[in-house]
Amino acid sequence: MINVSKKCIGCNKCVPVCPFAAIQLIDRKAVINEACTLCGACVQVCPVQAIEIAREEASTRDLTGHKGVWVFVELMQTQAGDKHPHKIRPVTFELLSIGRRLADELGEELSAILLTDKNAGFEKELGSYGADKVYLVENPELYEYNTDIFSTAIIALAHRHKPAIMLYGATIMGRDLAPRVASSLYTGLTADCTALAIKDGLLLQSRPAFGGNIMADILSPNSRPQMATVRPNVMKLAEPIYGKVALTVREDIKIDKSLRRVKVLERELSRETGGAKIEEARIIVSGGRGMKTKAGFKQLEELCRLLGGVVGASRGAVDMGLKEKSHQVGQSGTTVSPKLYLAFGISGAVQHIVGMKSSDVIVAVNKDPNAPIFNVAKYGVVGDAHEIAPKLIEALKKK
Ligand code: FAD
Ligand code: SF4
Ligand code: SF4
Repeated sequence: MINVSKKCIGCNKCVPVCPFAAIQLIDRKAVINEACTLCGACVQVCPVQAIEIAREEASTRDLTGHKGVWVFVELMQTQAGDKHPHKIRPVTFELLSIGRRLADELGEELSAILLTDKNAGFEKELGSYGADKVYLVENPELYEYNTDIFSTAIIALAHRHKPAIMLYGATIMGRDLAPRVASSLYTGLTADCTALAIKDGLLLQSRPAFGGNIMADILSPNSRPQMATVRPNVMKLAEPIYGKVALTVREDIKIDKSLRRVKVLERELSRETGGAKIEEARIIVSGGRGMKTKAGFKQLEELCRLLGGVVGASRGAVDMGLKEKSHQVGQSGTTVSPKLYLAFGISGAVQHIVGMKSSDVIVAVNKDPNAPIFNVAKYGVVGDAHEIAPKLIEALKKK
C-alpha cells in the first residue's frame, strides 16, 4: 500500500523519478495510480516525507509467480586503448555457472541482468556460460556504477518479472547494491555464501558463521526473491559452450538522473593496484607466522618472482606485520583459486582454508606433521620453511 499524505506540497519532485509513470500531479497534489510497483524511488526524493509505503507481513505474501534464477552482470573498466570501455567481471561467469545448475534443478530459466550505457555484444559471453536470457537496460545514466540508479533499475525489473532467486558477486559493487535491492524488495540477503543448492524448491544458502567455526544453512521460505552474494573464486567456473547466445530482452526502465545522490568527481589508483591481483593469480606463494621475520618472507617473495606468481599471507603473518593486509588469504581476506598454492609456515586454520581450498594443487611446508594444512594439501613437506624455500629458489635458478 502506498499513500500520499496531507504533507504533500506539490513540488513535483516525485513525478519524474517514477520508473513506471505512476504519479501525476492533480490539484497540486501527487496522486499515485495502479501502475505503482512499490519500488520506493519516489519516497527517497520527497522533501517532506509525504509518501509512505506500508508493506505487508512477509508470511502473508503470495509467492506464486516468482520464477527463474537471475545473475547480476558486473561490468568493470578495461585498460586504456581496449576496444570497449567495459568488460564483464569474471565473478559473473562463476555465478552463471552455479546459477545454471540451480535453474536446471528447478526446471526454470537462468537470466543475466545487464545494466549499461551501451551494450557491447555481451549476450554472447553470457550465453556461453549458461544464460538463457539477458534482461538489458541501456541508458546513458548507467555509464558507471551508482547505488541509487542501479538499485532503482533492478528493483523495477524485479517487480516486473518476479524472479525466484537473485545472485550477486560479493565485490565492492555487489556488496553495496544487493542490500539496497533486498531492503527495497522487503526480502532477505545472505552475504558471502560458499555453497548454493536447491532444497525442497528453495535456495539453500550456506556460509561460515561464528568466526568460521560452523557452517550455517539459510533458507528464505517467506520472501522472494531469495538473494545471495558469493565471493569471487568460490564457485567453480563451468566450461563455456561457445556458440550459445542468450536471448536479449530489452527493458524500458525510466531512470531519472536526479536519483543520483553521489557523483564521482575523480578517480585515483592506489599504488597497490599496479601489481598483479591476488584474486586473479594462477600461482600464489603464501607465508604464515612460521616465516617469523620480514627477511624470512623475502625468501618467499624471491621464490614467487621466479615462479611468476603473487605473494599471499595468513592473517597470522599480516598481524605480525610481515605482509600487507591486501595480501591476506582467507575468510576476512581474499578468496583465491589459483592453479598452484604454496603454503609456507601456515597452520591451516579453518578461516585460512575457506579462502584457498578450491586451489587446483596445494603444497604445504610445515615443521609440524600434524598441522591441519596437510589435510587439504596434495603434496606435503614436513620440514623447516627457512631451509626448503632457499633450496627451491636454487633449483629454479638452475633451471
Ligand atoms: P599459526 O596458526 O601460528 O601457525 C604457524 C605455523 O607455522 C604452525 O603450524 C607451525 O608449525 C609452523 N611453523 C613454525 N615455524 C616453522 C618453520 N620454521 N618452518 C615450517 N613451519 C613452521 N586467518 C587467515 O589466515 N585468514 C583469514 O582471512 C582469517 N580470518 C579470520 C576471521 C576470524 C573471524 C577469525 C576469528 C580468525 C581469522 N583468521 C584468519 C585467523 C586464523 O584463525 C588463524 O589464527 C591464522 O590463520 C593463523 O595464521 P598462521 O597459520 O600463519 O599462524
Ligand atoms: Fe512510482 Fe515507485 Fe513511487 Fe510507485 S513507489 S509511485 S512505482 S516511484
Ligand atoms: Fe508531494 Fe512529495 Fe511528490 Fe513533492 S515529492 S509532489 S511533496 S509527494
